Amino acid sequence: MTKWIQNNRTGIILATGLVLSAFILILSLMNQNQLTTRPDQVPLRTGPSITATKEASLKQGTKLIVLDRQHGWWKVRRNDNNQTGWVASWVANNTHLKKPTALSEATIVLDPGHGGSDTGALSTDQKHYEKTYTLETARATAKALAPTGARVVMVRNSDVVVPLLYIPRKADSLKADAQISFHFDSSDKNNTASGISQYYYNENSLPLVKSLNSSLNNLPLDNRGYETIPYLVIKDVTRPAVLLELGFINSDKDFKYIRQSSYQDKVAQDIKEGLTKYVTQAESHT
Ligand SMILES: [Zn+2]
Repeated sequence: MTKWIQNNRTGIILATGLVLSAFILILSLMNQNQLTTRPDQVPLRTGPSITATKEASLKQGTKLIVLDRQHGWWKVRRNDNNQTGWVASWVANNTHLKKPTALSEATIVLDPGHGGSDTGALSTDQKHYEKTYTLETARATAKALAPTGARVVMVRNSDVVVPLLYIPRKADSLKADAQISFHFDSSDKNNTASGISQYYYNENSLPLVKSLNSSLNNLPLDNRGYETIPYLVIKDVTRPAVLLELGFINSDKDFKYIRQSSYQDKVAQDIKEGLTKYVTQAESHT
């Protein structure tokens, strides 16, 4: 026997190694298909969306087997009672969230208008570009939304050009609950107009624009209201999409606010409030 082992040492080492790596591979594959919920009361739904009926609220630490994946939602089976359903993976895996809300399960696409060689409109002194403030305001909004646990996707986070049609495609691939474009207005002559406006195109964007319209009502700039306009970025969309004009950049009065982080933070809080109201209405309960 000892002699046999000595003669076949290389073979035995190789075989043992193979069996071990196969074992490790199987273990890691099994782990990939397992999920333990981190916050308390993660909703288990009948489909991959907040509009799908909530079948159960999972206790923290519920063990789940992953059966399928679709645009960030995972179809799972509970270990404890074999019940199946869908969870938003970013919610189930969130280590900071104590208890999810409707907004936690939402996917929000933020589109800071213009960028790169496309500067957008200019301030009255021609020194400040719209693209700078759209990005700052969208970043403030992403920051305000972070504690809610929502999945927030910025279509750009630096000074680059983003092809306009990329934005609705991105929102579609993520099955976003809201697509929000940030812009600042410009009038033909400097200092002849002031205020904020909201635009939408498709009927399925109307509840979103209404909700944001009312939440943006307490800004220091007048709210000129919302209307339907076939802008490219909000026209050929499958998901609810809104374009916000958050003041006239070529109005000295408006620009004084637009450039301030306190104004940007106020806009961000208002958007968060409007989204909370919007998704709470859209959410389906048991
Ligand atoms: Zn613009």
